[in-house]
Amino acid sequence: MRNQAESKGSIKQPQRDIPVYAEVDVMVAGGGPAGIGAALAAARNGASVLLVEQHGYLGGMATVSQVPAFCPYTDQEKPVIRGIGFEILEDMKRRMEEEFQQTWKDRYDWVPIDSEVLKRLLDEKMADAGVRVLYHTFVGDVVHEAGTVQAAILHNKSGTQAVKAKLYVDATSDADITWHAGGQFAKGGEEGELQPGTMCFVLHNLDRSRFLAQAETSGRDLKHAIHKAKAAGELKVAREWAGISWLNAHTAGFNFGHVFGIDGSDADDLSRGAIEGRALVHHIVQWLKGAVPGFEQACLGQTGEQVGIRETRRIVGDYVVTADDFLDCRSFPDDIARNAYFIDIHMAKPTSGMTMVHLPAGQSHGIPYRAMLPVGIDNVIVAGRAISTDRATQGSTRVMPNCFAMGEAAGTAAALLAQSGRTASRRVDMEALQRQLMRQGAWIGEEAQARLKQTAP
Ligand SMILES: Cc1cc2nc3c(=O)[nH]c(=O)nc-3n(C[C@H](O)[C@H](O)[C@H](O)COP(=O)(O)OP(=O)(O)OC[C@H]3O[C@@H](n4cnc5c(N)ncnc54)[C@H](O)[C@@H]3O)c2cc1C
Repeated sequence: MRNQAESKGSIKQPQRDIPVYAEVDVMVAGGGPAGIGAALAAARNGASVLLVEQHGYLGGMATVSQVPAFCPYTDQEKPVIRGIGFEILEDMKRRMEEEFQQTWKDRYDWVPIDSEVLKRLLDEKMADAGVRVLYHTFVGDVVHEAGTVQAAILHNKSGTQAVKAKLYVDATSDADITWHAGGQFAKGGEEGELQPGTMCFVLHNLDRSRFLAQAETSGRDLKHAIHKAKAAGELKVAREWAGISWLNAHTAGFNFGHVFGIDGSDADDLSRGAIEGRALVHHIVQWLKGAVPGFEQACLGQTGEQVGIRETRRIVGDYVVTADDFLDCRSFPDDIARNAYFIDIHMAKPTSGMTMVHLPAGQSHGIPYRAMLPVGIDNVIVAGRAISTDRATQGSTRVMPNCFAMGEAAGTAAALLAQSGRTASRRVDMEALQRQLMRQGAWIGEEAQARLKQTAP
């Protein structure tokens, strides 16, 4: 247990026995894209898997915070994120209305997310794969010794319980397990600055045709309207941009507005983010109704349960992926995924700017397995937003398709290790892992795939 700085002293908790809730091969903490990829991959590879999620559904930011679209799966030429992430994207599309299916057929970039469709799809996928899911449960601590996590401590309606696993996949996005186990971290920029949060939301009762026709005939899009309203002091947002993801002709998800100064690994900040985020959404929706043709009858369907968090802790892992690796499109012998998404760092203050750096079409860099291994900890693999990168690269690797891919690799590695009786994450047979990822349909880059094919056993 690590204590955050506290001004009101501390109490001593009496020693007590904690009942063991489950003993499994692999425990996955966090049910976002990384945790989903990890749990499915581990179970499909024969491991007994417990997936623990603090909310009552899976999806992570896509459902918890209503982030309305999947970032690109492609490098603008071909999908680089394949495997489980791709399967979920395509299965979600198949469950949508006919019009959505037609619009997004053979398209893999910026596909809108229907959070309710996604939640049910993921429940079914977990059941099919044999993953045991424990909802409404927070991983609040670990018992660890000499770099090995012996148990995760869970808190829920049933009280406090322990889970013993051979390996733990930490997909909490803040690397909570690693933090409790005494891992090393970096966070934010040189002055501790963090990307802002956003309270995403869903609007119903929109008139998409009118909205699009007006923009086309006037030549003035939403950006223009935001610019004008900001200048007139009618709209208090920092950026003249709104991400709109249409689910149908009347309903869209919005990624619009920033909440600044929120550290998503701090409970007080999260509470402030929720309150400020909802107030900002109310302000934005009132403005949209009054100023944007087609949005006059807009009805707020949902805000995120939690303000969307872009950045908190990054683990210090066996390898730190850097902006040079990104820019040089480097490959590594232990690549387990590729990333082609641009560096996309949102401004930490209302007055500062965005940082965006794109790779040329067709280019990507490797994500090495070592970036998921927290220094000094043996049986924890970190997948998703918190992997070991510098700040710039985190602005790129953090998006959902990448997190699915990292999760798939972490879960596959954990299952292979558990089956071979090893619990030390560093003892994975790298070639066996890469081959298995390929068999599952994941993509680790042309060179690596060719090399492995040449030396096929
Ligand atoms: C406003 C915003 C807009 C974005 N826009 C896009 C976009 O358009 N497209 C895109 O692809 N990506 C986007 N991203 C990035 C992306 O959504 C996240 O970086 C990504 O979801 C991270 O995946 P993850 O699996 O690492 O973590 P998350 O999605 O954050 O999931 C972590 C899960 O772990 C659970 N959890 C956390 N701690 C614990 C604990 N201690 N115990 C139990 N459960 C726990 C959480 O409840 C959550 O379900 C956006 C992010 C934000 C915030």
